[in-house]
Amino acid sequence: MAQPFGLAGVMGWPVSHSRSPLMHNLWLKQHGIAGVYVPLPVQPERLGEALRGLPALGFAGCNLTIPHKVAAMAYMDEIDPLARRMGAMNLVVVGPEGRLTGFNTDGFGFWQSLVDAQPQFRAEAGPVVVLGAGGAARAVVLSLLERGAPSVRLLNRTEEKAQQLASELSGAGAHGVIDVLPWTQRESALEGCALLVNTTSLGMQDQPGLALRLDDLPRTALVCDVIYVPLETPLLKQARERGHVTVNGLGMLMNQARPAFQAWFGVMPEITPELKQAMLATL
Ligand code: NDP
Repeated sequence: MAQPFGLAGVMGWPVSHSRSPLMHNLWLKQHGIAGVYVPLPVQPERLGEALRGLPALGFAGCNLTIPHKVAAMAYMDEIDPLARRMGAMNLVVVGPEGRLTGFNTDGFGFWQSLVDAQPQFRAEAGPVVVLGAGGAARAVVLSLLERGAPSVRLLNRTEEKAQQLASELSGAGAHGVIDVLPWTQRESALEGCALLVNTTSLGMQDQPGLALRLDDLPRTALVCDVIYVPLETPLLKQARERGHVTVNGLGMLMNQARPAFQAWFGVMPEITPELKQAMLATL
């Protein structure tokens, strides 16, 4: 029997900025799999229709990006426990009889990007400081707690959002402690931490940088910014000049795509130099 044609895509609104088609189409080619990964511009009010149409269209599944990551959960037949705990999903897999299952691979992508940058890094190494309490923070905080971070110091400009995130994730059975601290304490909170992660949009292209003095940050601490445009944010530049190992958001972006490709096409793809080059060329 002829090999089936592999079909997947990314639903978002807007979606034209997504780099996912570039990654998945390159992997399809590298693995000799006949198929295509397409951008799927789907308006929020038509998300249910679009998702329910996936099996009939022959899709193996799709990714979800802004603004669909939470709303899509309502249309799944099943939700992976990790995605449920995170309260958001970025991956749909079409199963037998057209059943839709939702997953979240953002936390995996984040964690893998840390390990790729510093293979000996352990979540147990010490307290973690996470700045921001939006969608990216959700994946970052849960993945660190799941891997044994003893505590997360969570700071957000709007403190109530940090409180809400902390109570949702704690209620979802996350191990470790989430300490919500006022945004004004973001410099003193760095004392004794093993990892600092910026998940705010400060430092993104066309946004002001994150104003943060690193004097209290231990020199051994890893510094990560989930932003990938630009690749080196002012925070990462400052940290690199201070001698820290730094991690940008490109690794998270590329690594979250790997388990999705595996779920649809049965092969765990690698971040090859060719893929990195192709991605860098778009930034
Ligand atoms: P959200 O809109 O959900 O959250 C934005 C966060 O930034 C909030 O915590 C917000 O605080 C904070 N923020 C915005 N402006 C300011 C400001 N002027 N001062 C202080 N804090 C501010 O966005 P996401 O979590 O989805 O995305 C955040 C960043 O992460 C983006 O740059 C995005 O590109 C990146 N990202 C990277 C991924 C990757 O794979 N590498 C994946 C997902 C996101 P407040 O609550 O007070 O508004």
